[in-house]
Amino acid sequence: MRGLWLLLLALVAAADAERLFNGDQVIRVNVQSEEQLQLLQALETQQEWELDFWLRPVSTDLPVDIRLPRSAVSSVTELLAAHGVPFSVIVDDLQELLDQEKAEMLKNQMKERSGRSFNFGAYHPLETIYSWMDTLVAQHPKLVTKQEIGRSYENRPMYVLKFSTGGNNRPAIWMDTGIHSREWVSQATGLWWANKMAADYGTDASLTSLLDTMDVYMLLLANPDGYAYTHSNDRMWRKTRSRNSGSVCRGVDPNRNWDAGFGGPGASRNPCSDSFHGPSAHSEIEVKNVVDLIQSHGNFKSFIAVHAYSQLLMYPHGYSCNDVLHQPELDSVGRAAVEKLTSLYGTRYKVGSICNIIYQASGGSIDWTYDIGIKYSFAFELRDTGRYGFILPANQIIPTASETWLALKHIMEHVRDHPY
Ligand SMILES: [Zn+2]
Repeated sequence: MRGLWLLLLALVAAADAERLFNGDQVIRVNVQSEEQLQLLQALETQQEWELDFWLRPVSTDLPVDIRLPRSAVSSVTELLAAHGVPFSVIVDDLQELLDQEKAEMLKNQMKERSGRSFNFGAYHPLETIYSWMDTLVAQHPKLVTKQEIGRSYENRPMYVLKFSTGGNNRPAIWMDTGIHSREWVSQATGLWWANKMAADYGTDASLTSLLDTMDVYMLLLANPDGYAYTHSNDRMWRKTRSRNSGSVCRGVDPNRNWDAGFGGPGASRNPCSDSFHGPSAHSEIEVKNVVDLIQSHGNFKSFIAVHAYSQLLMYPHGYSCNDVLHQPELDSVGRAAVEKLTSLYGTRYKVGSICNIIYQASGGSIDWTYDIGIKYSFAFELRDTGRYGFILPANQIIPTASETWLALKHIMEHVRDHPY
């Protein structure tokens, strides 16, 4: 009897700690008219049903993916049917996918522990990623160092891996993954890239010449609090974990928080929104730490931010739909990069400015870096195009990382060959 009580207590405690998504569905809506688009936009602003837009309603050309909490499934689907809006169910029960994901992770953890190995084709908690960084540094002491660039809101260290073969403040390339914490394939891809870069230095002639003249900085967990929270409490968490004064809702969208069109269209002033821009530009310490490093370094030539999902390679701006000065060059570099990407498995990516290819979004990181003079500013949206969305199965991590590595390498080589 006592055992049963303990079990029940444990279950209650677990339920309290971790948000469950039993019966939640993810639907895809293919909007056919302006009228239907407006209906979805109205749904986006109403808060009662607590809908989670994985892809927002922005144009009649783009699909809209929505996670419907179980309690809202019938209301929303009836409403869509009544208005003749076609939709399909992508995920029938989100919790089933999450349970599978977790079971796979635990199985992999045991394997890694017993084999003292690291599996790049699996998702990992923050602590494992941090200790893997030390392993990488230990394996490549002449190439890789780990630097703490500051602490997160919840006082977690933020580490960058610096790849450098010497010199003094050489021109540099920046990469960050995981600024939106629930986009797990982003962080996992960053790890694979980092390992690839270290492994290929000295054997791949092009990469070797690159690292002999330039430094590369990689911030693998750009939102460490959010990432830890996706593992412990809420797999669907996207924002930082900072407190908002006057609101019970926590967190700021760290990719609406940069000082580039801050507070403009495509960002929300509502602290409960997933795209809340925050009280002021660079209010989030995680953003501020990167801003400070970029500014004090002063010699970054390229800045690459990695998100998921939609399979896009984008350049500035997000806050405006007008072409930037270097649009033709950025577009042709992007297209050539994506051609290489596609050559591996046939995966297709679209290329364009954020505003033209997805939607107007202000306060994004690559707009800020471009506007301060970092010409080669790009953002990836990795796999997939909506079959799994944020819950991309771990067996797609290595294919995603390998194909995008070809695109990344093309961008880096272009940066090396076009000094400015
Ligand atoms: Zn994102």
